[in-house]
Amino acid sequence: MEQRDPSDYRIGWICALPLEFTAAVAVLDAVHPDLPHDENDTNAYRFGQVGQQNVIVAGLPSGVYGLTSAARVATNLRRSFPSVKYCLVVGIGGGAPILPKNDIRLGDVVVSHPIPGCGGVLQYDYGKLVNTGKFEQTGVLNKPPDIFLSAITKFKSAYPPPGKEIEEFVSRVLNSGSVDSKMFSRPSPESHCDRLFKESYEHFSGDETCYHCDLDMVVERPPRSSNQPEIHYGLIASANQVMKHGATRSRLSEERNILCFEMEAAGVMDQIPSLIIRGICDYSDSHKNKAWQHYAALVAAGYAKELLLQLGPPQTSKKRKNREDDTIETKDIFECLEALGGTNPTDDKNRIESSKDKPIGDSISWILNGQNFKQWLAIKDKPILRISGDPGKGKTMIMISLIDHMTEMFDRDTGSKIAISYFFCQATDSRLNNALAVVKGLLSQLISNPRYPSLVRYLKSEIDIRGKNYFEDPNAFYALERILLNVCADPQYNTFYFLVDALDECIGDLDRLLKLICSTCAKASRIRWLVTSRNRPEIEAQFEYAGLQLQISLEEHGEQINTTVEAYIHSKLQELCIKKRYRVDIQEQVGQLLREKAGGTFLWVHLACKELEKVYSYNAVATLNGLPSGLNGFYGEMLKYLDRSGYNNDVELCSKILSAMVAAFRPLSLQEMVTIAELPSEMNEIDVEVQVKSCGSFLTIHKRIVSFVHQSAKDFLDNNIGSRLIIPNGLGYQHQEIFTRSMRQLEKELRTDICSLKRLDFAVKDLKAEHRDVIDHL
Ligand SMILES: [Zn+2]
Repeated sequence: MEQRDPSDYRIGWICALPLEFTAAVAVLDAVHPDLPHDENDTNAYRFGQVGQQNVIVAGLPSGVYGLTSAARVATNLRRSFPSVKYCLVVGIGGGAPILPKNDIRLGDVVVSHPIPGCGGVLQYDYGKLVNTGKFEQTGVLNKPPDIFLSAITKFKSAYPPPGKEIEEFVSRVLNSGSVDSKMFSRPSPESHCDRLFKESYEHFSGDETCYHCDLDMVVERPPRSSNQPEIHYGLIASANQVMKHGATRSRLSEERNILCFEMEAAGVMDQIPSLIIRGICDYSDSHKNKAWQHYAALVAAGYAKELLLQLGPPQTSKKRKNREDDTIETKDIFECLEALGGTNPTDDKNRIESSKDKPIGDSISWILNGQNFKQWLAIKDKPILRISGDPGKGKTMIMISLIDHMTEMFDRDTGSKIAISYFFCQATDSRLNNALAVVKGLLSQLISNPRYPSLVRYLKSEIDIRGKNYFEDPNAFYALERILLNVCADPQYNTFYFLVDALDECIGDLDRLLKLICSTCAKASRIRWLVTSRNRPEIEAQFEYAGLQLQISLEEHGEQINTTVEAYIHSKLQELCIKKRYRVDIQEQVGQLLREKAGGTFLWVHLACKELEKVYSYNAVATLNGLPSGLNGFYGEMLKYLDRSGYNNDVELCSKILSAMVAAFRPLSLQEMVTIAELPSEMNEIDVEVQVKSCGSFLTIHKRIVSFVHQSAKDFLDNNIGSRLIIPNGLGYQHQEIFTRSMRQLEKELRTDICSLKRLDFAVKDLKAEHRDVIDHL
């Protein structure tokens, strides 16, 4: 027997029950020698071949069925054999006949196949169904991989029809002696007749067989001319418990057009793109018994074999190895990043760092040396560490320092099996304020980090199978969650750290993100999350409920925060003294006032020092005295100042800019600002920049992009005190205004052939800068 390399296997064959495993191995054309697998992997494996395809048959030795065990088989398989790209999930299931349209009989085969609006498998909660009578779909699952769907298409047009081939495989296996032929043969009509009872007729309780059940209650069906199995393509319903109630079965199959009920598919499809194949062994009602299970399993295996024979020849292992080892490179990473979309968190971090003051010295040593941080780092039972604090307490600066510290720590250890990735949420930017963006950002950072070269393949294989637009559809979030879990199962790493700043600023689908954080921890013990957020009860409640959280409250560590704020004041004061040539007594007074008024809030110090930069040294103390302590007081003062600063034209332009910024879903460029805020059209970028800078300290400019200095600044303008002045007619009105202005601008600018290309067949690559200039600011 030829020894093969693990990378030679790209198709998995997953079974839940030992009898399904036996049937699978029995139909293989050849069995290969065993291969070593991950030490924590408890699966039973058999390696073999059907036609030209190498397959790995995987199952649990204990034969526990259900979603969770199936999911475990898939996770193990994926971890030990990352080359496996697709799976067949082959075994038995309960039929759901609706006569005459779906005349499903025992020994037939049901194959998951997409119908409009569904990928072929419905995940539902049986418990809820029983309690409420309502069918509640609990998961959205992908359609089977194209490679199998096209094989099915080939299959359907085959002559003679596949049923005959399957029958032949089955009899060949039974004659070969590789299985117990008595057990796996088709049950005889005398002992175990194929009877479908009326849906409302319950089984005579206590009996193993239907010996005492009323034969008058059997549904009459036309006899078939042969025992050849029929193949049915359509929906399979997958739940965590067994369906054994005729009336419910009929109702659901009528309602949703379900052909089969089973308990494994959803667990596997979550992990690996799969096709589900079910041999029908009962009718999902109270009459179900085990008599048909072995035969049905063998028929399903026969179908799977026949399907594998339809697949084209696999790539030779040499070629594929080259692809995986050598050419997973810049091009692939680029392709994956393009498909993912979203922003690059590394750039976001750089931008935030350049707009904030550098963290001072060892401002986080009290966190690093604290009990909770150490426990989080070392022990698995509390995988979420949440740092909570009010606005302006320096959460983002702490996060940046922690990222730098952890990256450095892991980088220093060259043998480290740790991967780290981070994301900064920002409510004022629609590219950074929703759950999907967070997951995309975390993934894109992992796959593009040259320290983790192997991780990109999980995304690559997914895109190869499902296409580049995969992450644009409404199920993208679920797909990305699944991919994230796959990435985190990579055997080369033992811990994945995800750091997310400002969870409270994830305003789109925060709930989904919180659930994802909890569920990934529950599913994979190698995942840890470190998050920061304001004191928000719903975030706290979610993590507390899951029992996974360790918390560090900045309010409870007021002393440590105050020490760092003092250090910060000290460094800011040094700067001011040099720039503004403060006399010693002024320096002392300013320092004193900053310490008194800051109230342990970095942002307050930052903003106050910005104000101090604007005034001469003799005015510094008076200016500080005029600033109220507390952030909202501060913002209020800035707004009042704007209002009374005299130059009426200036005030009007500033409030126009501020109201545009409050309504906008993302930061605005200086150029856009003219249209969006309806500034005089003769203003150029420099004029706009000057104007933005005179809007108190609400806004900041980085690389010609205007954004809020802090989320709390926007909150202030958006809420009662601020909004009365800035958006007196309400936010709705403001949106309408922006819309109208944008439309007016488009009307003015848009015309046929706006780039003067003159031809329709102009290639994008030939587009020159001057062509693009015309549309850049639109
Ligand atoms: Zn019965």
